[in-house]
Amino acid sequence: MKPERILRAYELIKAYRLLDREGLATVEPEPASDEDLALCHSKEYVQVVKFLSGGGSAGASWRYGLGTADNPVVPQMYEASALSVGATMRAADLVLDGEAEVAFNLGGGMHHAHQERAAGFCVFNDLAIAIAHLLRRTDNDAKIAYVDIDAHHGDGVQEAFYDSDQVLTISVHESGRFLFPGTGAAEDIGRGRGEGYAVNLPLAPFTDDEIYLWAFGEIVIPLLDSFQADILVTQLGADTHYMDPLAHMCLTTDGFLGAVRHLKRLAHGRWAAAAGGGYDSEVVARCWTLAFAEMAEVNLRQNIPKSQAANYPGTSGQLRDHEGPELKEEQKSVARTFAEHSVATVRRLVFPHHGL
Ligand SMILES: [Zn+2]
Repeated sequence: MKPERILRAYELIKAYRLLDREGLATVEPEPASDEDLALCHSKEYVQVVKFLSGGGSAGASWRYGLGTADNPVVPQMYEASALSVGATMRAADLVLDGEAEVAFNLGGGMHHAHQERAAGFCVFNDLAIAIAHLLRRTDNDAKIAYVDIDAHHGDGVQEAFYDSDQVLTISVHESGRFLFPGTGAAEDIGRGRGEGYAVNLPLAPFTDDEIYLWAFGEIVIPLLDSFQADILVTQLGADTHYMDPLAHMCLTTDGFLGAVRHLKRLAHGRWAAAAGGGYDSEVVARCWTLAFAEMAEVNLRQNIPKSQAANYPGTSGQLRDHEGPELKEEQKSVARTFAEHSVATVRRLVFPHHGL
C-alpha cells in the first residue's frame, strides 16, 4: 500500500501527456475537516487517529484497528488520510457542481475503514464520507450509486448506507470465503428501507475476463439502469488482476477496462471515481492510466512512452497485457458455476426491489 503505487500511476499518466490535454485539469484538494470526517466516523475515533498520528501513545490503539499489521501507526497518518478524504470530496463537488463530468482521485478508495475502526490499510473512508457529503449538500435529495470493483468486498461503504434506499452500493469482489474481509455474500442485501440497496456479487478465485464481464453485465448494468442515480461514485481497485499478489482473481487489463467502460457509459457524465487496492505496482499504474484515458476519451498507444518504458519490464514496455493467465478448464468451470450461482441469487433477492 506504499504511496509509490499512486506516484507510478501519476507518472505514467503524465508520460502519456494526458494532463496537458484540453478540458483536463489537475485540481489540488484541501484536507477534510474533523466535521467532514465525523460524517462517517465517531469523534472519538478521529481524535484517536489524530493523537497517535502526532506521536502520542495509546495503550488500546488496537481497539480502533490501529497499530496492527495492516494499519500500523505512522507519523502524519491523520494528515495523509484527511487529505485523501478531501480529494474524493473535491471530486464529488466538481461533479455535483457540473464543473467536471468525471473527477478521479488516484489517492483514494479506502473502502474498508469503519465508523470506529481502521481496517485493511484504510484509516478514513473517503468514499463513504464523499457520499455522505453529497447527501449533506443536496439536503438528502440525491440518489447516489456506488460501484466497487476492487477484489475485496467494499464493506465499510456498504455498512455506512446499509439502511438507506437512497444510496445503492454494489460490490463485485472475490468471495469472502477466500479473501479478506470475509463478508459480502450474495445473500447480504441491506436492511429496513435499505433492503435491496446493498448488492454483493461475490466471485471465485480464477474468475477471468469473460466470466467477470458476463456477471457484471447481468447485475451491475440493469441495476444502474433502473436506479437512475444522480451521481455515480466508484472504487476502481486493480487487484482483480491475475498478477496481483494478494487476491486470486484472474482478470487482465482488458477485463478491468471493460468494467470501467461500462461504468463510464452508465455514469452519464456525473462520475466521481477513486482508485483503491492493487499490489503489483506495474499493474496498478497501467490499469489506472487506462481508466484515466477512458474517462478522458483518449486512445493511448500500446507502447509506453520512452521515458517510462523501462519501468514496465513485466509487459516489455506495453500498456495493455499482451498475454493472460493460463487457466485449466476445471478452474474456469468452477469459477463459472460460482458466478452463475451469485448472479442467480442477486437476481432472485435484489431485482424484485427494483421492479426487475
Ligand atoms: Zn482490494
